[in-house]
Amino acid sequence: MRRIETCSVHAGRDDFAELGVHASPIDLSTTYPVHDLAAGTASFDALVGGAAHAENPIYARLHNPTVARTEQAIAELEGTESCVAFGSGMAALTALLLSRRAAGSHVLVVRPIYGSADHLLACGALGLEAEFVTVDQIAAKRRDDTSLIIVETPANPTLKLVDIRAVVAAAGDVPVMVDSTFATPILQNPAALGARYVVHSATKFLGGHGDVIAGVVCCADQDAHALRQMRALTGALLHPLGAYLLHRGLATLALRVERAQANAVEIAERLKKHAAVSRVYFPGIAGSEQGELIGNGDAAQMRGPGALMAMELHGGFEAAAATMAAVKLITPAVSLGSVDSLIQHPAGLTHRVVDEQTREKHGITAGLLRLSVGIEHVDDLWADLDQALTSAMGSTGDRLRDAA
Ligand code: PLP
Repeated sequence: MRRIETCSVHAGRDDFAELGVHASPIDLSTTYPVHDLAAGTASFDALVGGAAHAENPIYARLHNPTVARTEQAIAELEGTESCVAFGSGMAALTALLLSRRAAGSHVLVVRPIYGSADHLLACGALGLEAEFVTVDQIAAKRRDDTSLIIVETPANPTLKLVDIRAVVAAAGDVPVMVDSTFATPILQNPAALGARYVVHSATKFLGGHGDVIAGVVCCADQDAHALRQMRALTGALLHPLGAYLLHRGLATLALRVERAQANAVEIAERLKKHAAVSRVYFPGIAGSEQGELIGNGDAAQMRGPGALMAMELHGGFEAAAATMAAVKLITPAVSLGSVDSLIQHPAGLTHRVVDEQTREKHGITAGLLRLSVGIEHVDDLWADLDQALTSAMGSTGDRLRDAA
């Protein structure tokens, strides 16, 4: 089996020599000629039934070869039989939830998770009853109509790790879904630990350049059928141009994650000593509680800590807002996993849709900033972060003095 770095570059490209091409072909057709009606009907039936391929793609809502190629590449990276791609991470989650409805309308969710995913589940828009639990409560809270157990690890935005093996053990027959967006397939493969569905917002590291919105569900062939059926039914497609960009981004995934992670390890250590910062949330930080889940040990589930971190500022909301206003190299923006570094305020942006009490309970405070570390030179990043935090500290200090 080829190693992950090689897979990152070559997955989904194995037929290039045969095709006589060196870059992925883009197929933008919305419809395909049907000269033989009997064969066309057979292809239609197969695709509507959730098949990955048919002789004739028929219509782009049912199948697109460029999207299928990207799916094949991501499945190889994640170590699953299949991957089904959607127009966004939220569309991927929605299709998965709907595809599980027949098994029951109750889902268990371990918080924290991405704000909009939390909101989708909490607001009941899909007719689901979402119950928010801790890992320890899963076994007791499972019901006959529980159709899915949802975890996100590392979790957005506090980087809390959830022990995937422990969740799978507590889940019994209920399938476990892991949102592995923060980890990427380079650092974590939840399916190998027993998760039945692995979800990524491919908008993030997989695409990697901030120019594609996409989502994927990696799973067994059998489960992919129901997801493709749901995608055809609801039209939650990934456009082939997006699929092309996503596939192109994958080629540098291993390299980008490696570099961004090395930067993040260094920045987390420096942040710990910064006078403006009261706490750093980073899975790899020395003495962190869940350290055994990272590395090469028997209990490990991640090969490294990743490139995301969060920091709590002494100066609270004022300091957080002032830091976002003061960064010059780092972009103050939501999203993550891009080649460039991004900083944002979860309570005011990504997790705004989660009620305040829940936010506070899970550490999403007014003084918390989330940093997605990119592949720039670490010293340039640090210089920018340091000047922003220091000037924010000064300006909040001035305001506090004025108010006194
Ligand atoms: N899952 C995680 C962990 C995320 O951070 C996000 C978006 O930020 C999503 C899912 C949703 O993905 P998208 O924005 O591609 O719909």
